[in-house]
Amino acid sequence: MTSPPWLTSFLALLLGRSARRRRHVLFVLATAQLYMVSMVVIFQGMGHGLIRKPVALTLLACCVLVFGVVFTLVRSGWSARLDDPVLTFPHALACQFLCVLAYVLLGRDGADIMILMGQTIVAAMFRLRPHQILKLGLISVGMLCAAVLHVRLTSPDSLSLLVASVQLLMGGSTLLLLSLVGKWVSEIRVHLGRQADTLQQTLTRLQHMATTDMLTELLNRRVTEEHLGRELKMHSRHGQLVCVALIDIDHFKRINDQFGHHAGDLALRALADHARGQVRPPDKLGRWGGEEFLLILPGMNLDDALETLERLRIGTNAIRIDAHPDLRIALSVGLAAARPDDTPESLVDRADQALYRAKRLGRNRCVVAGVSDSPSPAPSLSEPRHELARPPFCGPLPAGGTA
Ligand code: GH3
Ligand code: MG
Ligand code: MG
Repeated sequence: MTSPPWLTSFLALLLGRSARRRRHVLFVLATAQLYMVSMVVIFQGMGHGLIRKPVALTLLACCVLVFGVVFTLVRSGWSARLDDPVLTFPHALACQFLCVLAYVLLGRDGADIMILMGQTIVAAMFRLRPHQILKLGLISVGMLCAAVLHVRLTSPDSLSLLVASVQLLMGGSTLLLLSLVGKWVSEIRVHLGRQADTLQQTLTRLQHMATTDMLTELLNRRVTEEHLGRELKMHSRHGQLVCVALIDIDHFKRINDQFGHHAGDLALRALADHARGQVRPPDKLGRWGGEEFLLILPGMNLDDALETLERLRIGTNAIRIDAHPDLRIALSVGLAAARPDDTPESLVDRADQALYRAKRLGRNRCVVAGVSDSPSPAPSLSEPRHELARPPFCGPLPAGGTA
C-alpha cells in the first residue's frame, strides 16, 4: 500500500530522505514523549498554582530549547560525522541538567523529578557504551547531590535535613543502580553486536568459499553449473542465444613436470586473471576442474563467441610469469551454441567433443561444435620459445574454418 503524497512529503521534511538519517531523527523524536509528559506536568502545576508562572515558563523554554537544538543538529545532518550521530550522551546530560534545574527551582516539590532522571538513564542505555552510561549515572548522582545541598543550604525551611537525606539516599542509589544495570545492558548489547559482526563476516567468507575456486578466484564448478542451468532456461523460454566454451590448457602436465607444481598453480592464476579481463560482465567464467575452464556467453552468437575465444587464446600465448620466464601457456577451446532441446550436460558434451577435436587437430586452437565440428580460422601464433609449450600443430587451418 502506498502512502498519500502529502504524507510522504511531510515525512521527508520531518525525517529526511536517507534511511540512516531517518533512523537517527526517529530516535530523537522517541525522546519527545519524555518532554511532552514533563511539559504537561509543568502546565498542570502552573494551572493549579503549584508552580509559579515564571518558573514554569523558564522550565518550558529550557525543554523546548534542549529538544530543538538536538533535533536540529541531528535532522540537519551536522551530527552525522560524529561517533554518536544521535547525540545520546550530550542529550542525556542536558536532560539531567534540566531535571536538576527543575528540582532547584521547585524546591521540595520537585522530588518527583528524580523519576525523570531515572527514565533518562533507561532511555540512554540502549545507545551508550558501557563506560558512558556509568559516567552518565555518576554525573547524574553528583548533580543531584549538588542540587539537594543547594536547596537545603539556601532554603533550609523548605527542605528538612531528614527529607534531604532521604531524597539523596533514595534518588542517588536509584540512579546509581540504574546506571549499573544500564552498563550491564550496554555490555550485552556491545557483545551481541560483535557476535553479529563476526557471524556476518563468517557468512560472507563461507559464501565466498562455497562459490569461488580458491586458487583462481573464478566461479567454482557448482556455481558455474547453476549459471549454465539458468541460461539454458532463458534460452528455451525466450530464445536467448547462449554459447559455451570448454577451455583446456595444452600439455599442462608437462608444465607441472618441467617447472614444478607451484609454477603450474601460477600459470592457472595468470590465465584466470587474463581471462577475467577478456570477458563481458554478463559472461560467466568458472573453473570446471584441474586445468579446464567453462565460459558461458549469454546473448552471443557463435561468430562473436569465436572472436572472443580467439582473442582470449592468442592473448594467453603472450602471458609471461616473472618467476618462470620460459613458461608458455597455450589453450585448446571447444565452443558450442545452445539448441532448444539442450540440457546442460548435452551442451557441455558438445563443447567437450569440439575440445577433443581441437586437441586432435594439434592444440592451441578453437574448434566450433557443429555438424562437422569445425576448427576455428587459422591461429597466427608467434613461435613459442619454450619447447615444451610448443604446440605440435599451430599452422594455418583450412580457410573457412571447417574441418
Ligand atoms: P592436454 O594438452 O591433452 O590437455 O594435456 P594435459 O597435460 O594438459 O592434460 P592432462 O589431463 O594429461 O593433465 C592435466 C594435469 O593438470 C594433471 C594435473 O596434475 C594437473 N593439474 C590439475 N589441477 C591442478 C592444479 O590445481 N595445479 C597444478 N599445478 N596442476 C594441476
Ligand atoms: Mg590440458
Ligand atoms: Mg584437461
